[in-house]
Formats: sequence, structure tokens, C-alpha cells
Amino acid sequence: MSVIQDVIAMVQEKDAGQTEFHQAVREVMDSLEPTVRKHPEFVKNKIYERVVVPDRAVLFRVPWVDDKGEVQVNRGFRVQFNNAIGPYKGGLRFHPSVNISIIKFLGFEQIFKNSLTTLPLGGGKGGSDFDPKGKSDGEVMRFCQAFMRELYRHIGPDVDVPAGDIGVGGREIGYLFGYYKKIVNEHTGVLTGKGIDYGGSLIRPEATGYGTVFFAAEMLAAHGQEVKGKVAAVSASGNVAQYTVEKLDQMGARVITLSDSDGTVIDEAGIDAKKLAFVLDLKNVRRGRIKEYAEKHKGVTYYDGKSVWDVIREQGIKVDLAFPSAHENEIDGNNAAALLSNGCYCISEGANMPSTMDAIEVYRDKKILFAPAKAANAGGVATSGLEMSQNSLRMSWHREEVEERLHIIMKSIHRNCLEAAEAYGMPGDYVAGANIAGFLKVANAMVAYGIV
Ligand code: NAP
Repeated sequence: MSVIQDVIAMVQEKDAGQTEFHQAVREVMDSLEPTVRKHPEFVKNKIYERVVVPDRAVLFRVPWVDDKGEVQVNRGFRVQFNNAIGPYKGGLRFHPSVNISIIKFLGFEQIFKNSLTTLPLGGGKGGSDFDPKGKSDGEVMRFCQAFMRELYRHIGPDVDVPAGDIGVGGREIGYLFGYYKKIVNEHTGVLTGKGIDYGGSLIRPEATGYGTVFFAAEMLAAHGQEVKGKVAAVSASGNVAQYTVEKLDQMGARVITLSDSDGTVIDEAGIDAKKLAFVLDLKNVRRGRIKEYAEKHKGVTYYDGKSVWDVIREQGIKVDLAFPSAHENEIDGNNAAALLSNGCYCISEGANMPSTMDAIEVYRDKKILFAPAKAANAGGVATSGLEMSQNSLRMSWHREEVEERLHIIMKSIHRNCLEAAEAYGMPGDYVAGANIAGFLKVANAMVAYGIV
């Protein structure tokens, strides 16, 4: 058996039951086979065996008191996966599905994504099984404070710098940062995604969505095409989805879908700036359900209990471009096949690992333009890196400057993926290119450090 297959088998045995983590390891490791032949120093130093084990993983209790005065207990996690090329960096996710497998899969992916950004950022991830949905602002604040009461001792501006993810947006980052500042008595860049008035970066909220569209535009341009005039499907209606829609609309595409965990809306007329403003208010201020979009706008159909990908398959809806922006494994093999037979030829992943292994097989088989999450959605963490730079400099850059830097980073990631894929014998394969380009920098650094 090859080193790679040995490592996959080892992870499956030692980290039994961590199915999402196994999936992420398999997806990365399978692409690294050509690096084994070219880099005997990686084999000798057991880099493949070492990179799949986190530097450390912290699990902690988060007790807090709800509005009725009852004590609630949640689990908190922070996995510091690899800091070979910079301080640990990666979001916090608050969602009932969070467990150690989910956090390890996200942290592992984050190592290679952060390496791809061209910035000096290591990989980490954290979160809790706390569900902010349906909680009052006071409950969310008390939970965030209880969570930070333990997390603060593990993080720091040169150690580990968390950000948001599912269930952690501007409100939660505000409460987390406020409490860190209170107990550590330091105003430093220890979290990113902060409000503009207290150290945040312009364009950070927009960055993941914008970056995902920039990456799609690069793939299309490499084939003589453009975003303008295309029909696009976007899933979810959270942070990533909102700004994916905004940039697609600005670049002249027509976005016809949005969703949440209750159902999907189809708006054939397209979601323009005015309709998107309604979505931002609905989701970020009133914290309502996407069904209300269909009630408010004429000619919109709501499909209860269905994902965007179910509706496209069942209703035979034609789209050119797809931006899955909700959660892991949202597109399975069946829905992937239907999406492609309905005309989709370019997929740029906003969410982390939204396509199952079967779905990725379908994309590769049909040779469509497919940008995996670690390349396509790296604009978010890249702009977090820019927020860290601004905090260290005690400066803030203009909106245009940050967006221009983001655009340049996404173009570099695109170019680096293609170059790595070409150099390792898989031209045009963005999955292999992203995994190899992300891995090489981290592996070289680990070799340089010796056995530590
Ligand atoms: P968010 O603002 O909390 O929004 C999440 C969206 O996904 C909501 O519309 C939510 O619907 C939907 N969703 C979540 N879990 C779902 C489920 N099990 N079934 C159906 N719908 C579900 O989160 P986000 O920041 O946009 O993150 C979305 C994805 O992008 C995640 O995979 C995240 O890891 C990835 N990502 C985010 C960033 C970033 O900068 N934020 C960067 C890179 C990658 P409900 O409201 O009904 O739950």
C-alpha cells in the first residue's frame, strides 16, 4: 500500500466515528499521491502522518443561564491544527450539529485553504453545539461570554485568531470580542469579523461571497467566457450566500434561488439589489425565514422542506452556474447529476465541503469547471488576514483598497491551483491543484523545523 493509503487507513482506525474528518482527509490525501514521488523528504520526515494529527484539540464545558433562569450546558471546541506557516486561524461555528468530527474536518481543510491565500496563516477551527436560532439577544450574549470565559486562555493575536462561521456573525463576534477585552484588558486583533467601529475591516462581511464569484469569473475567463448574462443558483441565505448574490448581480448574472433550513425560493425574474436588501433585513435584523421572501415578492415559488438542489432536480430548472453556500454534503451524487443535466457547467463552492465524494466524481467525470471550497471560499479568511494586518498597523484601509487586494488574492489562488495541477500531471484539475499548492508550503515549513 502507498503512504497515502496507509495514512487514510490510520485515520479511519485511530479517529473512529469521525466521518466528516475521514471524508476531508481522503479528499486531500488522494490528491497528494504525485507529491510522494517528487518529495522523498516528505516521506522520510513522515509529513503525511503528522499533518493529519492536530497540534492540540481543546474540549470544554460552557454553562450559561437562559431567560427563564434555568442553567444550560453546551460543549465548546477549539482545534489548533497546524501553525507551521502562521498563527492558527479559522472560524467559530455555533450549530446543534457541531461535534469534534465537524470541527476537525473544518480545521484540517483550513490548513490548506489558509496556505493558498498567500498570507502567513495557520489552520484552526472551533465552535459549539449551541443554537443561536430562537434565542434572545441576552441569551446569545450570556452564551458568548461563557464560551469566551474558557476560550480566552487558548487564543491571542499571535497565537490563534478565530472568526465567524455558521451561527457566528457580527452580533456574536461583538459579544465575544467585548468579553475578551474585558477579561484580558487588551484591545488587540484577537478576533476577525469585528465591527468597523472597533477594529473590523471593510469588505470582511462581503469577502467570502465576493471571492467565490471572483474565482468563478477566473475559471470562466480561462475558457473565454464571463459571468455576465449567466443564470445562477445560490443555496442558503446567510452571510456567504448574501454577498455571493450581491456580486453576481453586480457582474450581470441573474440569480434565481435562495434557501434556508426550512425550504427554497425560486425567483425566475432574478434577485436584484432591492430584493437582496429585503433578504439582508429579513436574515440579519429580523432573523426571519426565507418563506417570507415568497410572500413579499410576486412570481416567486416557495418549496417547503426542499433544498435548492432538490428543487432543481425535481422541477428541471436550468442554471449555468452554481454556488452551494449552506453546509457540508448539501449536494449528493443524484442532485449533482441532475444539476449538470439541467445545463450547469461551473460550480464554485462557498460552503465548506458542500459536495459529497459522489458529487465530486460526477463533476470530474463530466469535466465541468469545479472550484473546491478551499480555493473558492478562501477570500473570507484572506480578508481576515487583511484585518489582522490593519490591526497590527493600527490603520484601516478604504473599501476599494481591500476589495482590490481580495480580487488580486483570488486571482493568485486561481493561478496557483492551475500551475500546481499542471506541474503534478493533472492539468485543469482545480481539486488536485488546490490540495497540492496548499500542502507544499506547509510541508516544506514542517521539514525545515525538524521533528517538533
Ligand atoms: P450563516 O450566515 O450562519 O448562514 C448559514 C446558512 O446556511 C443559513 O441560510 C442556514 O439556514 C443554512 N444552513 C445551515 N445549516 C443548514 C442545514 N443543516 N440545512 C439547511 N440549511 C442550513 O453561515 P455562513 O457564514 O454563511 O456559512 C455558510 C457556509 O460557508 C458554511 O459551510 C461555512 O463553513 C462556509 N464558510 C463561511 C465563511 C465566512 O466567512 N462566513 C468562510 C468560508 C466558508 P438556517 O438559518 O435556516 O439555519
